[in-house]
Amino acid sequence: MADGGVKPKKIRCDACPVMCYIADGKSGACDRYANQGGDLIRLDALTIIQNTDHKLVPFLQNLDPSEWDGNIINGNRPFITAVGAGTTYPDYKPAPFIVSQDVQGVDMVTVVTEGIFSYCGVKVKIDTDRHIGHESDIVRVSGEPVGHVTTTEYGSKMLSLGGVEHLTGGSKAEGRITCSTLLSLCNREAVEVVIGEEGHEITVVIQAGKAPVIDGIEENLMRVGCGSAAIGMFAKQWLNHVDEVIVVDDHITGVLSEHEAGKQLDVPPTGIKIKGRRSTPGRYFQVAEPGTGWGGTDIEDPLTILGPFNPKVAQPGTRILMVSTTGEQSGYYELDKNLEPKLKQMPQKLQAASDLIAENCEPSICSVLFMGGAGGSLRAGVTENPVRLTRSVKNALTFVSCGGAEAYVWPGGGITVMVDVLDMPTNSFGYVPTPALVAPIEFTMRVEDYAILGGYTQEIKSVDQLSRERVRTVGKIENQPDPMHPSNFSWAKDRA
Ligand code: SF4
Repeated sequence: MADGGVKPKKIRCDACPVMCYIADGKSGACDRYANQGGDLIRLDALTIIQNTDHKLVPFLQNLDPSEWDGNIINGNRPFITAVGAGTTYPDYKPAPFIVSQDVQGVDMVTVVTEGIFSYCGVKVKIDTDRHIGHESDIVRVSGEPVGHVTTTEYGSKMLSLGGVEHLTGGSKAEGRITCSTLLSLCNREAVEVVIGEEGHEITVVIQAGKAPVIDGIEENLMRVGCGSAAIGMFAKQWLNHVDEVIVVDDHITGVLSEHEAGKQLDVPPTGIKIKGRRSTPGRYFQVAEPGTGWGGTDIEDPLTILGPFNPKVAQPGTRILMVSTTGEQSGYYELDKNLEPKLKQMPQKLQAASDLIAENCEPSICSVLFMGGAGGSLRAGVTENPVRLTRSVKNALTFVSCGGAEAYVWPGGGITVMVDVLDMPTNSFGYVPTPALVAPIEFTMRVEDYAILGGYTQEIKSVDQLSRERVRTVGKIENQPDPMHPSNFSWAKDRA
């Protein structure tokens, strides 16, 4: 920092353990702080959410200082986010902003800091049927392991990326690439990952809010249900237009004539034989290998999952529809005199039924959720007694937000939060080369509760005392609660 009189050539940044020496006109290793004429400044603007109906605006859109009249509380009630707020280090120092304001007659305070998260990562949900790797397969970026494939959810594949093991537990390159991968994903940029072992790699381009690109092909639709569910949902649409329907699915392939839905609609047996493991009537597992073909299987010709028809039951001329879980692939067949299915022109009404499946599918997108643990050191910037903050959060006396977006706080010990990066202002995240991710976190509570948990009450400033050279004002995002609203807190519920 400047020390009056003669300015030193380099100043020391004390905002993180790296402790950069920064020359005049230069920025530190993280590009978040700079030496401006001997003063250490935070380069990004402090982001303030105005309580309006507008969507968040892109970063840097509102940065021209000449357009700012210095009053950060003009307009509606503001919420001071931690984006651009800066970090204090070591941990006993109070958070950079501890701001109070009156909210419906209640003195509220928000404690704001850009947390340095060594324990953090992202959970990625990729809406697709296509096979992108087996559970526990390693996910790599630039050849470095950054995470793994986790469970498949309904219509989606899940990745777990980052975490302290990759950030600190491997090589220097692994930590660096993991950190830059998390930073890009959290700031809504596209990242190309490679999943699986040599010879079986699958490339996926992930970007929050955008369709995944799998091995160069952009995904289109997310299934409305598994093969069995599709039979249940659409059985009535097919009735009288076809004798048999098979919805091909890597997980649960459905067969109309055997399925309970078909039984209840009096669909007679067709003598069909499905290769795969029968689970319950009309529901088959493992009809093929996982892949990028029909319904997330590796097949391009659906007839490969059929065995010979039972000649005691099957009739020449039997009409068969085979369709994938998203309705994007379909084929119409009729049994010939040898009881072999032959491809025919799809009747118009059946095509409409297939189109109905596709119509009921949602657009495929990638969702990126930041997950991090607000450790004792971060909590120490809020109170000298960090465990009291944890208790206050658990008792719904303190509301946790990240860049103004409501954070889901995991049950159990500590303050482990999860938040959708699309709900946060753009460019909310930074990094330090330790390596760790820098993410905004705000704790909002009544002033009286802040005093009880041992907060730095002497550091509280009224919101109208705040002045900052550069401020970015963004509108409140539609689906997010106002962090200061009484309905977030147990005391308001007790009062009601
Ligand atoms: S990495 Fe950034 S925050 Fe850390 S000391 Fe250097 S300039 Fe400061």
